[in-house]
Amino acid sequence: MNSRADQLKVFFLPFLVSGHMIPMVDLARLFAMHGVNVTIINTPANALLFQKAIDRDANSGHQIKTHILEFPSAQVGLPEGIENFNMITSHGMSHKLHYALSLLQKPIEQLFQEMTPDCIITDMFYPWTVDSAAKLGIPRLVFHTAGYFSQCAASSIKQHAPHLSVNSNADTFLLPDLPDTIEMTTLQLPRWVRTQDGYAQLMDRIRESERQSYGAVVNSFHELESAYEDHYTSITGIKAWSVGPVSLCVNRDAADKVERGNKVAPDEHEWLNWLNSKECNSVLYVSFGSLNKFSTAQLIELAHGLDASSHQFIWVLRQKDKDQDEGWLEDFEKHIKESNRGLIIRDWAPQLLILEHPAIGGLVTHCGWNSILEGVTAGLPMITWPLYAEQFYNEKFVTQVIKIGVSVGVTEWRQWDEEAREVVKREEIEKAVIFLMGSGVQAAEMKNRARELRNAAKRAIQNSGSSQSNLMSLIKELKSLKCGRS
Ligand code: UDP
Repeated sequence: MNSRADQLKVFFLPFLVSGHMIPMVDLARLFAMHGVNVTIINTPANALLFQKAIDRDANSGHQIKTHILEFPSAQVGLPEGIENFNMITSHGMSHKLHYALSLLQKPIEQLFQEMTPDCIITDMFYPWTVDSAAKLGIPRLVFHTAGYFSQCAASSIKQHAPHLSVNSNADTFLLPDLPDTIEMTTLQLPRWVRTQDGYAQLMDRIRESERQSYGAVVNSFHELESAYEDHYTSITGIKAWSVGPVSLCVNRDAADKVERGNKVAPDEHEWLNWLNSKECNSVLYVSFGSLNKFSTAQLIELAHGLDASSHQFIWVLRQKDKDQDEGWLEDFEKHIKESNRGLIIRDWAPQLLILEHPAIGGLVTHCGWNSILEGVTAGLPMITWPLYAEQFYNEKFVTQVIKIGVSVGVTEWRQWDEEAREVVKREEIEKAVIFLMGSGVQAAEMKNRARELRNAAKRAIQNSGSSQSNLMSLIKELKSLKCGRS
């Protein structure tokens, strides 16, 4: 056990969106489970989403707490309680949220000065924490909520700009200097790569701050991305610790798994009863993460594609999608209920619990990194349907590097809060579902590879597994830095 004097005090600073907060809170809980004194900085409405898990950990003796900062709702003109990107409904609100984040910088810096942590582990979206840590003479670690591959792919494009030497946005080009042969098109690249706007400048600052950091903590594991782990450290020049999958490390019982970062729909047992009545590997899980926005035309195509495949499915539909309902959805839901072929979950599903159910045989994913890791952890093959952020890079990783997925064929990147111009046709969806859920040789090989990766993930987080060892050596290193300062 640590004595209080040499106990390491680490502050965690998550970005205010589910896909970043969920793994950061998991990481913070993981540190606390290993004897670190942990403080998570959050705002009132966001803190509430995780409080039960934090309280459970604290009650079982771990040194973990949330430090709640007042959210400047009135100052930025946001309604009370709207404190993250999942809650907003317009571009205007998004700007106000960014403004609120900039106003939080001062109180956070003040908190660092007053509480003198031994280390700051921060989301990449707070590049200014490099200076905060330098002022205090402590290490700043950036936590990558996405894996190595996407960082390496983005860096290849930034350095070599291969998209500037093709004739059209739809022509493919090679990503130079990567361990595998990966091709993309300009249309699949994030807007900030193609346009020098304010966001592009922020991404440059983020990249600079990463390279000025003591190191990176990455939600990945060595056996999944070893070649890219090495590549990342060689291109950034900083150390990296793969400590994931963090969700697998800390969410060990149903109470943890059921409510991660949001409230599940009240009919939570319906899905379980339904899945319990199904054969092993017979149901496809369809979800596009926490931020997706689809046109009615796309939702209709998806419904028809799933229906035409004749396979069984659980489809997580966001409330915002339902607002566009023109009656067809009720008819569709009635139809799938009558035939006992599918189930729709509104808004927020207990994804970890569903994915590990033996009836689930695959997933359709928007290629958010958390969902990919959770699919890998459950040993599931995937249909990839990337939308925004680094998801097109992640698709390449799933389909061409670890080869556990098939692409539905989306061609164009879009902003997270915009509907796509492109509509994926029902025939493409049907084809991908029949391929993945069917009994062909290629699909069977994908399933085998997915199961091998699941076993590797489980080994990585066990005692003396790669992620566990990395975490222990990181904590040891941070302790010796602390000793060196005192
Ligand atoms: N998630 C969930 N239920 C939902 C939707 C999302 O539990 O209905 C969780 C999911 O398990 C994952 C996170 O939210 O941990 C979403 O992160 P991801 O990187 O997959 O996508 P993002 O939402 O950031 O685009």
